[in-house]
Amino acid sequence: MGFLNDKRALIVGVASNRSIAWGIAKAMRQQGANLAFTYQTERLRERVEKLAGEVDSDICLPCDVASDEQIDSVFEQLGRSWDSLDIIVHAVAYAPREALSGDYLDSVSREAFQISHDISAYSFSAFAKAGRKVLRAGGALLTLTYLGAERVMPNYNVMGMAKASLEANVRYMAAALGPQGVRVNAISAGPIKTLAAAGISDFRRLLEYTEAVSPLRKNVTIDEVGNLAAFLCSDLASAVTGEVIFADAGFNIVGIGASG
Ligand code: NAD
Repeated sequence: MGFLNDKRALIVGVASNRSIAWGIAKAMRQQGANLAFTYQTERLRERVEKLAGEVDSDICLPCDVASDEQIDSVFEQLGRSWDSLDIIVHAVAYAPREALSGDYLDSVSREAFQISHDISAYSFSAFAKAGRKVLRAGGALLTLTYLGAERVMPNYNVMGMAKASLEANVRYMAAALGPQGVRVNAISAGPIKTLAAAGISDFRRLLEYTEAVSPLRKNVTIDEVGNLAAFLCSDLASAVTGEVIFADAGFNIVGIGASG
């Protein structure tokens, strides 16, 4: 028995057992949620199906979030197993690798700007648009962001803009879905070594710096982010919507870090 008993959650963004979405899936299952998953490409299908099995789910659907047809098809297929939905977790981001390195103005291009905003920000609204009809009152949507939306981080570049757009999306979506009793929030996670993070040049430096100066002197884990996600998508957080909540060992509050 847990605080997500009887909730149905669609998890978008599992690529490996290091994915933040996987930490969220495990925490939600521990609290009693029933889960469904999407996978980006056929190449990932087997891996995601295996992970889904570990959390008692046999619903795994293909979805490239660049395609409205594929997003619609997710809800169509989900409808065959579930007549309604309570939670959507959006843990997806992408920018061309060359845009995540070096001087911002040198690396940014119209194309990288469009792709990063489409995949990393617009797709959250796209899921809300397509899923709106089946979301039950008391439901919750959640996405993942990073401090690079608010502050300049080395090499994060155009992804900072995409995350700023995503955070604004959270507020507008919260206003749109609030009247139907559905909440929308984001977790701003500290750096975690995942496949997506590997695309950011010199990512190791973000990990080392965060560990050295954050108040808790550590990096966060996917399980810690998962626990916060489970709470935010549960009725325990019924008064919280439109927020960006940090799970970053306190890093975002620091001005000049003390070390030692
Ligand atoms: P990850 O690589 O495990 O997950 C990224 C996911 O995005 C993958 O499942 C990938 O398949 C999916 N994806 C990319 N393009 C897609 C597309 N076109 N269609 C469908 N899926 C697509 O990495 P992660 O770090 O777990 O990333 C999850 C989220 O967390 C991202 O939004 C990321 O920006 C955010 N985040 C990560 C960190 C970190 O340090 N790892 C910190 C803060 C926020």
